[in-house]
Amino acid sequence: MPAWKAYHTPSTVDEALALLASYGGAAQIIGGGTDLLIDLQHGGQEPTRAALVDVTRIPALGEITSEGESVIVGAAVTHTAITRSALLEARATCLVESCGVVGGPQVRNVGTLGGNVAHALPAGDGTTSLVALDAEAEVAWGDGRREWLPILKLFKGPGVSALDSHRDVLVRFRFRLAGEGEGSAFRRVMRPQGVALPVLGCAIWVRLDEARATYADARICIGPVERTPALASAVQEALRGRPVGPEALEAAVAAAHASLHPRTSKYRATAEYRQHMVETLLRGALPLATRRARTGQAVAEGLGLA
Ligand SMILES: Cc1cc2nc3c(=O)[nH]c(=O)nc-3n(C[C@H](O)[C@H](O)[C@H](O)COP(=O)(O)OP(=O)(O)OC[C@H]3O[C@@H](n4cnc5c(N)ncnc54)[C@H](O)[C@@H]3O)c2cc1C
Repeated sequence: MPAWKAYHTPSTVDEALALLASYGGAAQIIGGGTDLLIDLQHGGQEPTRAALVDVTRIPALGEITSEGESVIVGAAVTHTAITRSALLEARATCLVESCGVVGGPQVRNVGTLGGNVAHALPAGDGTTSLVALDAEAEVAWGDGRREWLPILKLFKGPGVSALDSHRDVLVRFRFRLAGEGEGSAFRRVMRPQGVALPVLGCAIWVRLDEARATYADARICIGPVERTPALASAVQEALRGRPVGPEALEAAVAAAHASLHPRTSKYRATAEYRQHMVETLLRGALPLATRRARTGQAVAEGLGLA
C-alpha cells in the first residue's frame, strides 16, 4: 500500500495551509522526510496519508537572512545549508556544530531544521542549539493566526508538539546573533552505529562582561534530560557573576550533577552513563564557548562526525 495518495508542492505558506485545510486533517506536512517517511513505513502512525504537503519549495522557508543583530532561518533550511553559512558559523556556532553532526551527509542534505523541531524530541540536535540561542519560532496556525513564540512553547512531551503538522506550518526561526563578548558551542556523544538521536547533546551560549573576565549570562541546553527540551537553569545560575576559570567550570559541573538527572534509554544509554557524560560535555563545551566569547573568533568543530 502506498504511504500517501497525493503529493503537493505549494509555493507559499497560505497555499500550504489551504491544502492542509482542504484535507481536513488527513494530509501532513513533509520537509526532508527523514523522520516522517520512517514513521510512515515502520512507526505506530496510520501508515497512509491522503496527501503529503511538501514545504521545501516555499522560498521563504528556505532562506537564511540577517535582520539587524538577528538572523532568520527558514524552517525548510537543511542541515547542510546551515553548516555552509559563514554568518551562522561565526555568530551562532553551536547551531552549525549541531546541524553538522546530524545523521550522515544524505540525511543532512535533505533533513530540515523545522523538521527537527516539529518532531519535538528532547534530543534533536538542531533543537538543542536553538534552545540555547533563545530562538523564537514563527508559526502559521491552521486557524489563520500567525505568531512568533519562544521555541520552548512548541514542546508538549516526547514527540508531541504544540504544532499539528496536519494543520499548522512552522515557518521560520529568529534569534540574536552573537555580539561582543558572546559565544556558543555544541558537543554531543553518539553511539558509533547510532540510532537517529544522540546519547546526549549539550549547547552552551555565554556572555562575558566588558572585561571578558566574568560570566554575565549563560544559556545551556542539555538533552535528553527532561521530557521536553529545557534550559539547565541551575547550571546557568552557577555561572552568572562568576569569574571565568576553573572554579566556574567546577561550579557548573557540581550544579549539573545536582540538578540534571537523565533517564535510562533502552536503545541509547543508562542513566549513569548519561550523568557521567553531562560532566564530560560541559567540560568540553563551556571552555570552548568561553574562548569564542573572549576572542570573538569561532570556527565550527566536529562537522561531519557521527
Ligand atoms: C539515519 C538518520 C540519522 C539521523 N540522525 C539524527 C541526528 O544525529 N540528530 C538529530 O537530531 N536527528 C537525526 N535524525 C532525525 C532527522 O533527520 C532530523 O530530525 C531532521 O531534522 C528531520 O527533518 P525533516 O525535514 O527530514 O523532517 P520530516 O521527516 O519531513 O518531518 C518530521 C516531522 O515534522 C513535521 N514537519 C516538518 N516540517 C514542518 C514544518 N515546516 N511545519 C510543520 N511541521 C513540519 C512533519 O510533518 C513530521 O511530523 C536522523 C534521521 C535518520 C533517518
